[in-house]
Amino acid sequence: MHRLTRAARIRWASTATSTSTSASASAHTPTPPSPPSKSKSRWLGFLVVGATATAAGIYVRQSNDSATLNPETFTKYSLVSREPVSATSSLFTLRPRRFSESNYDVYEEAWATGVWSVMFKQPQLQIGRDYTPLPTTAATGLTVEDENEGCLRFFIRKDPFGEVSRYLHTIEVGADVEMRGPKIECAIPKETEEVLFIAGGTGIAPALQAGYSLLSRGGRSKIHILWANRLKDDCAGGQSDSLKPSPTQGWLSGWFGGKKEAGEVVPVREEDRSLIVRELEALKSQYPGQVTVDYYLDEENTFIGKEAVRASIDSSSDRKSKLILVSGPEGFISYMAGPKLWAQGQELQGPLNGIIRELDLKDWGVWKL
Ligand SMILES: Cc1cc2nc3c(=O)[nH]c(=O)nc-3n(C[C@H](O)[C@H](O)[C@H](O)COP(=O)(O)OP(=O)(O)OC[C@H]3O[C@@H](n4cnc5c(N)ncnc54)[C@H](O)[C@@H]3O)c2cc1C
Repeated sequence: MHRLTRAARIRWASTATSTSTSASASAHTPTPPSPPSKSKSRWLGFLVVGATATAAGIYVRQSNDSATLNPETFTKYSLVSREPVSATSSLFTLRPRRFSESNYDVYEEAWATGVWSVMFKQPQLQIGRDYTPLPTTAATGLTVEDENEGCLRFFIRKDPFGEVSRYLHTIEVGADVEMRGPKIECAIPKETEEVLFIAGGTGIAPALQAGYSLLSRGGRSKIHILWANRLKDDCAGGQSDSLKPSPTQGWLSGWFGGKKEAGEVVPVREEDRSLIVRELEALKSQYPGQVTVDYYLDEENTFIGKEAVRASIDSSSDRKSKLILVSGPEGFISYMAGPKLWAQGQELQGPLNGIIRELDLKDWGVWKL
């Protein structure tokens, strides 16, 4: 059985935000937060995210005939299907080219640890990009056989100018795709009781992972997801669980096809829900009362601002171990929590900034994905 590289284990500690970096830390060794300075409860400025050669654009030349997913060499999968989720994104299902019983253990260990990714290779350009496997839920569409065969699914946005996402959207069903991993992006500590996940666009994939990883441990932990998208199409049929104001429609909850006026519920037909919304609904059904989701749309002039984050924090319980995870495009992460940094070939968390810092939240850990 393959053991994973546990690159970044979060520690529950009270430290301050600082501006130094820990670039000298080993890529595989958790780095403790910086020593306390001003404020007490903000932390996690500088843990090293696993630098297992996953820098964007990195050259990837290793070839491999391993049947088991592993972080060192590329393993061949074949594209089973590519279903459109919206005009700009699709759900990919991939199956290992050769069967290996060990894949099950590799995946299980990654799921148990937290948020993880794999790197896909673009063979002509010899470059790689990271993508986030989706958990298997009731809405998954995968059969037991698919699961036993080690299939993985991904939600991938096509960047019209992007090398790897364009490549993935143009290859034929049945074609080979090489990937390596898992890479642990964030080990969710065992003691975590509550997660606020702030996701932009395809940043929802790690949110689904975090939900699955956290809740499948048992107990009564909770996850609240704030998901921002540009277009309605990206989250069709999504209904927000919290009541919040919409500048165009007044106080509504779930305005993406869910409710017409405050208080008037219009049931959403299953077929009108995007695949990812169905995944979120499936997670909610699997863990009743433990998952809440709120949707935000640029198109509707609703954005995840300070108030939305504050409201999510305010409504949180007095649970002790609480974690905010932020995932999405660079600009989104910067706005929420300040930019991540590159130093000496490693990706670092960088200081906590953005609206989360302004909110000066006590007792919440913060991690940028
Ligand atoms: C841990 C992790 C998990 C991820 N999970 C997912 C996931 O599940 N789904 C998903 O869709 N994405 C995910 N991503 C993002 C993904 O890795 C890619 O970054 C994304 O698909 C774009 O890659 P690309 O090769 O298509 O685009 P790139 O070729 O990297 O280009 C991206 C953009 O930059 C522009 N650009 C490139 N070079 C230049 C330049 N020199 N000057 C100016 N502009 C330039 C391009 O025009 C394009 O618009 C994840 C990223 C990380 C780090």
